[in-house]
Amino acid sequence: MAERRRKFWGWGYEDQGPNPEQQRHLAERMAKRFGLGGYAITPPPTESELNLRAPRIKPPDALAAICSSSVYDRAGHSYGKSFSDIVRAFRRDYRNPFDVVAFPRDERELVAVLEWCDRERLAAAPYGGGSSVVGGVEPPAQGDYRGAVSIDLGHLNRVLEIDRASRAARIQGGALGPALEDQLRPHGLTLRHFPQSFEFSSLGGWIATRSGGHFATLYTHIDDFVESLRVVTPAGAIESRRLPGSGAGPSPDRMFIGSEGTLGIITEAWMRLQDRPKFRAGASVTFPDFATGAKAVRAISQAGLYPANCRLLDPGEAANAGANQGEAAVMVLAFESADHPLEPWMKRALECCADHGGTIPAGADRTRADADATHEGAAGAWRNAFLNAPYLRDTVVAMGMVSETFETAITWDRFPEFHARLMATAGDAVKRVCGKGTVTVRFTHAYPDGPAPYYTILAPGRRGAELEQWSEIKRVISDELIALGGTITHHHSVGRDHRPWYDRQRPDGFATALKAVKRALDPHAVLNPGVLFDP
Ligand SMILES: Cc1cc2nc3c(=O)[nH]c(=O)nc-3n(C[C@H](O)[C@H](O)[C@H](O)COP(=O)(O)OP(=O)(O)OC[C@H]3O[C@@H](n4cnc5c(N)ncnc54)[C@H](O)[C@@H]3O)c2cc1C
Repeated sequence: MAERRRKFWGWGYEDQGPNPEQQRHLAERMAKRFGLGGYAITPPPTESELNLRAPRIKPPDALAAICSSSVYDRAGHSYGKSFSDIVRAFRRDYRNPFDVVAFPRDERELVAVLEWCDRERLAAAPYGGGSSVVGGVEPPAQGDYRGAVSIDLGHLNRVLEIDRASRAARIQGGALGPALEDQLRPHGLTLRHFPQSFEFSSLGGWIATRSGGHFATLYTHIDDFVESLRVVTPAGAIESRRLPGSGAGPSPDRMFIGSEGTLGIITEAWMRLQDRPKFRAGASVTFPDFATGAKAVRAISQAGLYPANCRLLDPGEAANAGANQGEAAVMVLAFESADHPLEPWMKRALECCADHGGTIPAGADRTRADADATHEGAAGAWRNAFLNAPYLRDTVVAMGMVSETFETAITWDRFPEFHARLMATAGDAVKRVCGKGTVTVRFTHAYPDGPAPYYTILAPGRRGAELEQWSEIKRVISDELIALGGTITHHHSVGRDHRPWYDRQRPDGFATALKAVKRALDPHAVLNPGVLFDP
C-alpha cells in the first residue's frame, strides 16, 4: 500500500482538507464579508513546478541510506506553517531549500548525522512536525555554511518505558501527538497536551518551543510536564535526573526547554502523565462584551479553581467560530478530572461569571461522564472551528487574504490599557495597509496574575504584495506590544520571525550567558543558526 504523504506545501495529508466545493463556499463567505468583487483561489504547487537549486552537498556513504535529496523531501522540510511559509509555497518560491533531509532511525544515527554537519560545517535544523509558525525549521539565509541539512526525527516516535507508580513515561522526541497518545491509551494514561497543531507536531518540538496546550490554566505550557530530558549536542549527550522536584541549582531541563533546537536535539524525555479523565463539566457563558468577560476570567483564575478550559472569545471570534452571531462575548468553560465529580468547582466558577455580568445557561453545573459535556452548543461550535482552522487557513491564503495571529501575555493591572492600545494599533495598521479587515481577540490561557490574549488579523491582501503587507502589520503590532510591556510570544516561540522583538525583550546579561552556553555545546554553531540568537 502506498504510504500516506503529507502535503509538502500546507497543512495535513494530501488526501485531507476542504474539497473544491468547500473551498468555494469558504471563499464566497470571505468575499461577501469583506465586500470583495470577486476572488480567485490559487492552486497549490506541484513538485514538477518547483525548480530547486541542485544540492550543494552529498551525504557520506555511511549515511546515504537515511538521507534524501528528493524534491518532495527538500521542499516539504524547507518551510514551517506560518502565513509567510504558505504564501511562499503558493508562489512556488523555494529559493533557499535544504540540500539534504536526514531521517535517523535511532540516536546512534542521529549522532552520526550531527557529527557530519559539525565536521563539514553544515547548518543542521531539527525537524519534529514542522508546524513552526516563526521560521524555526528553515535553512539559514545567511552565513558561510557549505550546505544545510534538515534532521527529521519522525522515526524516533516511540513510548519506550512507563513508570505506573510515578505516572510518567520515557518518550522519544519525534513522536507526533496522535502516535504518542495512541501508545499511552492502552495503559489508561495520557499526556493531555493538546496544542491546536496536535496532529502534526511532536514532543521534541513542543519542548523545544515551550508550546501551550489545551489546558487554559495551571498546566499551560509543556514545561510543567517535563520530568527529565536527554539531549544530543555536538559536544555530546546530556541527560538530566528524573526527579519530581529539585532545588539543586539552575535546572538543566530549563536550559533546554525553549532552546528551539539551537543547543541540542531532544531525543527523549520523561514526561509526567495523567489518568484519563472520567468526569467532565462544560458550559458556555455569554458576556455583554470582552472587557466584562475578562473580569470573570480574572476572578476564576484567582479563585484557585484551575478549569481545563477558560477561553474567552470576543464577539468577533465567537461569530467566526459559529458560537453566536457576534452579539456577545463567550467564555468556553470546562473542568475535567479522572478522580472526582466537578459540581463544586463548576458551581463556583459560574458564580464568578454571574458576579461579573455573565449569563449562565440552565443546568450548566452538572458533571457528565461523557465527552459531550464539552462538545455541545457554543462550546462545541468553538471546538469544531478550532480543530478545522488549520485546514481552512491554506484556502484563506490561496485566495489572497492576509491572516496572522499575535499571542502575548500581560499582567492584569496593565491589561485594560494594553488591550485597548493594541486593538487600536492593530485596527489602524490593518486599515492603512489593507484598506479594511478585522482584528479579533480571545484569551488562550489565563493565570492568576494575567491573561494570554491572542489577536487574529484577517484582511484582504493585494495579490503579489501579501508578504509585504503581512510584514508591515506584524512590525507595527509587535513594536507596540513590546513597547507596552508584553511578551513577543506566549507559546508560538521566537524562531527567526520574532527575533527583532525578542532581542529587545531579553535582558542583555542573559543574552551573553545564552551565547556562552551555545559556544560550549555547539562550538561550530551548526544548530539552527539565526533562531533565537546570532551564533
Ligand atoms: C495551525 C497551527 C496551530 C498551532 N497551535 C499551537 C498551539 O495551540 N500551541 C502552541 O504552542 N503552538 C501552536 N502552533 C505552533 C507549533 O505547532 C508549535 O510551536 C509546536 O510546538 C512545534 O512543534 P513541531 O514538532 O511541529 O516542531 P517543528 O516545527 O518541527 O520545530 C519547531 C522548532 O523546534 C526545533 N525542534 C523540533 N524538534 C526538536 C527536537 N526534538 N529537539 C530540539 N529542537 C527541536 C526546530 O528546529 C524548530 O526550531 C501552531 C501551529 C500551527 C501551524
